[in-house]
Amino acid sequence: MAIPYVFEDDIEHGVCKRLTPLIRRVICNNPGPFTYTGTTTFIVGNGVVAIIDPGPNNISHLDAIIAALDPSEVVSHILVTHTHSDHSPLANALKERTGAKVCGFIELNDTPHTKSQIDTKVAIEDANFVEMEEAIQRDFNPDIPLQHQDVLNGPDWTLEAIHTPGHIDNHLCYLLHEEKTMFTGDHIMGWATSVIVPPDGNMADYMDSLERLLSFDLDLLRPTHGPAIENPKTFINAYITHRQNREEQILGQLAKGTTQIQDMIPLLYADTDKRLYPAAAMSVLAHLEGLVRTGKVVCNSEIKLSSDFQLK
Ligand SMILES: [Zn+2]
Repeated sequence: MAIPYVFEDDIEHGVCKRLTPLIRRVICNNPGPFTYTGTTTFIVGNGVVAIIDPGPNNISHLDAIIAALDPSEVVSHILVTHTHSDHSPLANALKERTGAKVCGFIELNDTPHTKSQIDTKVAIEDANFVEMEEAIQRDFNPDIPLQHQDVLNGPDWTLEAIHTPGHIDNHLCYLLHEEKTMFTGDHIMGWATSVIVPPDGNMADYMDSLERLLSFDLDLLRPTHGPAIENPKTFINAYITHRQNREEQILGQLAKGTTQIQDMIPLLYADTDKRLYPAAAMSVLAHLEGLVRTGKVVCNSEIKLSSDFQLK
């Protein structure tokens, strides 16, 4: 089944829109091939509120978030889904304006399985070569480090952190129990597939994290970019199938003797915006890394974009 994508192109940047009794949104004016119409900042609760994904360092967006609040409202927590530069950097300025505590995942020392086996330096050189646009905020330092299943409360809201590594290994989704709604960050988006860029992204972890969300009874997914997703289980299953099909296609290319990622991309992503080809190349690299790890594919050198891959 094809992914039942959803789109919402007619949005207004910087304007507060109430979505449900507990959720408001403000969309930042940073549209692009990775961000769709921009970063959606969510305000959760009433009176004492949590803010999810403050966004990039953009002062007009900071002003728009503050303007979206009632003057008597208090921001108790700033929740970050992950440390890509369109999600976390505004947390510090928003903290200065509101006094709220910044919350997010801090990498655990005892989780080596979330680490890609691709050599970091080599992969970063590769990433520069393809001009990746999703930069990482390396100095993120939350007041409240969160781990899987940690819970934060306000007077009318309960948010639970759900660790979902894969897009990046510090990715958290947040479950709003009162509305059976999962804020999915970049883990699941309605308008596109998520980009997996090694070494911070990891395809095997990503697939496990998709499965993880299937275990929840959810009414709605709310990604940080683009509109809400109804029928979460159907959508997540289609996302999983899409990745499995992609892996089959990559194995098919290898079977035909195509050994280089750069030769596979135009064939595998014929319908995709060419601006996303560098990201697509990293996704294929992430798939191949997983296939090498499971022994289906061999690579005679270090695993990087320019390597030769062959079926075992
Ligand atoms: Zn991201």
